[in-house]
Amino acid sequence: MKREFAVIGLGRFGGSVCRELSEEGMEVLAIDTQESKVNKFRNIASHAVIADATDENVLKELGIRNIDHVIVAIGENIQASILTTLMLKELGINKITVKAQNDYHEKVLNKIGADQVIHPERDMGKKIAHSIISNNILDH
Ligand code: ATP
Repeated sequence: MKREFAVIGLGRFGGSVCRELSEEGMEVLAIDTQESKVNKFRNIASHAVIADATDENVLKELGIRNIDHVIVAIGENIQASILTTLMLKELGINKITVKAQNDYHEKVLNKIGADQVIHPERDMGKKIAHSIISNNILDH
């Protein structure tokens, strides 16, 4: 069975998540406020729409309630990221993954019930450091 995802915010991170999920054959609804970003994903995602995710009615009209897992990849606009996460939570989304900008943002996201909070740069830095260490151990 195909799993359904929505990616909100198609910057470098959200765009990469959207592309990868689509290449793996998943159904992806791609959302961004910027037309130019959305246009890039028209032939990649199952659906790509220009929309402001902080508008609850817009989220409802997009049928977001029927989606299993939503990834909120709004970066700099912390207020929009928090508001969107809160509304997704209220709409009863099963799984919500959010990109955090800093530790305070992460704290709020955890408090309002995000299921998974990620810091792409920090998390990737950790992974690389561990992989460097294990390669060094193997080399010795
Ligand atoms: P990255 O490093 O992944 O590129 P970033 O930290 O630079 O991300 P932004 O560019 O600030 O993040 O935001 C990512 C995307 O989210 C942008 O394409 C932006 O247009 C989109 N975005 C911002 N606010 C909203 C919103 N309310 N609804 C939908 N998309 C939004």
